[in-house]
Amino acid sequence: MGPRWKRVLKSMGRMFLMFVLIIGAAYWWNPQKVHYPSRKAPENNPKIDPESSRLFSKGTRVAVVVGHPDDAEFFISGTLLKLHDAGAVITLIVVTDGDKSYYPPFTTNVDENRKVRHQEQTDASSHYGANVVFLGGPDGRYDPDEPVLRSKLKSALDEVKPDYIIAFDPEYLPRIQHRDHENSGRAALELAPGTSAKWILLFASMARNTFVDTSKYWDQRSDLIAIHKSQFAGEKLMLIRGTLLDKEMKEGEEAGFELAEGFRAVRLKD
Ligand SMILES: [Zn+2]
Repeated sequence: MGPRWKRVLKSMGRMFLMFVLIIGAAYWWNPQKVHYPSRKAPENNPKIDPESSRLFSKGTRVAVVVGHPDDAEFFISGTLLKLHDAGAVITLIVVTDGDKSYYPPFTTNVDENRKVRHQEQTDASSHYGANVVFLGGPDGRYDPDEPVLRSKLKSALDEVKPDYIIAFDPEYLPRIQHRDHENSGRAALELAPGTSAKWILLFASMARNTFVDTSKYWDQRSDLIAIHKSQFAGEKLMLIRGTLLDKEMKEGEEAGFELAEGFRAVRLKD
């Protein structure tokens, strides 16, 4: 092989290395994580009723733990509207401000984002009567083991004295999941046994074993998603609505309802 070919191969090698480094850095920085292969539901995954008549009843205390302002509306607002109609008392605990502070400096206005997202969340959750608690963790970098954040979440849960906790499933994840979703779910699942809650219901789960019939809530749910204007507007909003409707139809089929939101119910105590 002549020296010219050697030079070409060398420069191709360098380009490939650069490419790998850039992709690697982008993956490391981006809070979306790929779980491949995703963990499959257990072979034997019987349906469970997490005492639904108790869940959907007046005065039942429900603590919902999420990663960002908009997660509750995006993933489970049909269930939350239904809980509100039943008279349940809902507290929404949002562990980060969704301020995009993990972006490179000067590319986003963190204070403004925080303000806007708090307001959107408070507006949206007023439709299902939730009290909202913001824990102020770092967006995109929520660490479930960081002692201050952990004790803040524990105090918030202790204050609610929940009968039920609702959180992201940190164990049976979809193929692509935001790390704050996974980590907020992990923190909630780890703290749950030390609370008053008898059940934890985990959403965005690949091992769903219980379903809430949300057939009559689609229009309201769709309006709640649109309140998060800073995240979903125009074509993106249409696309998101379509994706979510498909998901609820699919989970409805699993459950025998027109539309449903699925959860993995885990009993915490008898
Ligand atoms: Zn989120």
